[in-house]
Amino acid sequence: MNIVIFGPPGAGKGTQSLRLVKEFNLSQLSTGDLLRDEVNKKTNFGNQIEEIMKTGGLVSDDIINNLIEKKISDPQFKNKIIFDGFPRNLDQAKKLDILLEKYDQKMSLAINLKVDNEILTKRITGRVICSVCNKTFNIFFNPPKSCEIKECSKRKLNQRSDDNEETIVKRLKTYDEKTFPVLDYYLKKGIIKNVDGMQEISAISDQLFTVIRALRS
Ligand code: ADP
Ligand code: ADP
Repeated sequence: MNIVIFGPPGAGKGTQSLRLVKEFNLSQLSTGDLLRDEVNKKTNFGNQIEEIMKTGGLVSDDIINNLIEKKISDPQFKNKIIFDGFPRNLDQAKKLDILLEKYDQKMSLAINLKVDNEILTKRITGRVICSVCNKTFNIFFNPPKSCEIKECSKRKLNQRSDDNEETIVKRLKTYDEKTFPVLDYYLKKGIIKNVDGMQEISAISDQLFTVIRALRS
């Protein structure tokens, strides 16, 4: 089944997506990760994207649609995608439906992780990422522990360049203005599941596992 996971920056979309990937053999499509891959290539295109990400705005729909069609059109991921950080505005949501139809797929569930703004700020400023295995930790809520991969002993814990207080305010504003209305789009389709994203990480995933198992049976 295809799933979309919603929530403001820092809500726990990436953290929960990884758990769902493992539990249900899904494939994560994080537009933020795909954009950061482009930025790391240090091309002109990557530099342009980086400027937009630094301001907390949205990268153009054309760029995003290009990135996602590659994944949706790949038969090995048919009806097995968890969309993390996409769609982020109504046009992207409509485009996603067109693409799903084109490749004979459907969206089964839209998870909405709800978290208060003060907690989001702390989650984002405390987010650190392992330089070896890319796992995300949090210096306040989910302290970095040794990873499963041996080389992780030599890791650095990196912070995202947009995870600073100034950009966070803008990212939250972008979420309220552009992304929040997308929830209504999925509400009308009757596939929204609201989840309290302020619970412990595993309590949230347990709840999600139950919802998804029920849908699959
Ligand atoms: P998003 O992908 O929505 O931006 P992440 O999954 O990267 O969010 O989580 C943001 C930060 O908050 C990370 O540092 C992560 O370890 C931490 N985090 C995620 N879920 C929880 C939770 N339920 N409780 C406490 N901290 C969390
Ligand atoms: P978070 O969920 O913590 O906000 P992401 O990694 O999903 O972080 O996104 C980081 C940045 O990448 C966003 O602030 C935005 O600039 C850009 N971005 C990610 N996904 C999209 C998208 N679907 N459309 C436009 N811009 C995007």
